[in-house]
Amino acid sequence: MSMPLRQSLRIASYLVAQKMRGRRRFPLLLELEPLFACNLKCAGCGKIQQPAHLLKRRMPVAQALAAVEECGAPMISIAGGEPLMHPEIHTIVAELVRRRKFVFLCTNAVLLPKHIDRFRPSPYFAFTVHIDGLRERHDAAVCKDGVFDAAVAAVREAKRRGFRVTTNTTFFNTDTPQTVIEVLDYLNDDLRVDEMMLSPAYAYERAPDQEHFLGVTETRELFRKAFSGGRRRRWRLNHSPLFLDFLEGKVDFPCTAWAIPSYSLLGWQRPCYLMADGYAASYRELLESTDWDSYGRGRDARCANCMAHCGYEPTAVLATMSSLRQSLRAVRSA
Ligand code: SF4
Ligand code: SF4
Repeated sequence: MSMPLRQSLRIASYLVAQKMRGRRRFPLLLELEPLFACNLKCAGCGKIQQPAHLLKRRMPVAQALAAVEECGAPMISIAGGEPLMHPEIHTIVAELVRRRKFVFLCTNAVLLPKHIDRFRPSPYFAFTVHIDGLRERHDAAVCKDGVFDAAVAAVREAKRRGFRVTTNTTFFNTDTPQTVIEVLDYLNDDLRVDEMMLSPAYAYERAPDQEHFLGVTETRELFRKAFSGGRRRRWRLNHSPLFLDFLEGKVDFPCTAWAIPSYSLLGWQRPCYLMADGYAASYRELLESTDWDSYGRGRDARCANCMAHCGYEPTAVLATMSSLRQSLRAVRSA
């Protein structure tokens, strides 16, 4: 992955340690969801469709830390819901940073000005702001006017205060290579965020909008065109070269959802944070009692159009690590 040197070295040594211990399956990044509530109601969101009693709940700090300790992943992505609505989210972040975990706090950034004083800049911590397009497209995606301007202002302020800020952009079939280029050029060159992540939208069964998810062929075509002309190399994308090859359709991979487990108020979600086929009480139980071979494109109909990083980026990272040529390529692209 293109990431700061400190993080790359840590991940590389973690992967070597897993290999030396002969572990077949292990976590690379934990998706921690300490609440389901959100201050927005995006039409493509499959997370906020929980019953009211669950939307009211917040995960206790000790429970979140215990899940992190149990699974041992070196990177933690905190999502939801909107994590800034959790009254103790700053404590969870501070405790994880203290344990030298790399923490990404995924936020729509609307509440960031109100809560930014609760956080301290650290090389182990980044705000990951959700921005789906330029003003009109982003506000349409989040179903509310003014959110793009609020998010951009919050990113500028966070950067001014010395925080690492990354972005995550979800693309739908209403996007074109030009809209992809416009938003990534803006984030890379104008807003100058530290790194950018891309997500082809996953077809959540429970999302109100069921018409705008990308199919595999559309995804490949979209990214192949958007990445052409040297832009892929120029953009500070937070993905491994092999995952970007995968998005473009130059390589194909099986899903390794076990490497990005998801822990929420409901437990360890089977098999990944996009799909819920029940919950396990521990990461070990999740690993041991899930039939991993039955998931992924070509295996489960619900995975047919999934090219999300939670299934395929770990496969790309593991393929990078097992090839000297790909490792050198990843180092060069960092
Ligand atoms: S901001 Fe994120 S969590 Fe909130 S509704 Fe939108 S997609 Fe869902
Ligand atoms: S392909 Fe993998 S990551 Fe995608 S929905 Fe299926 S199990 Fe989850």
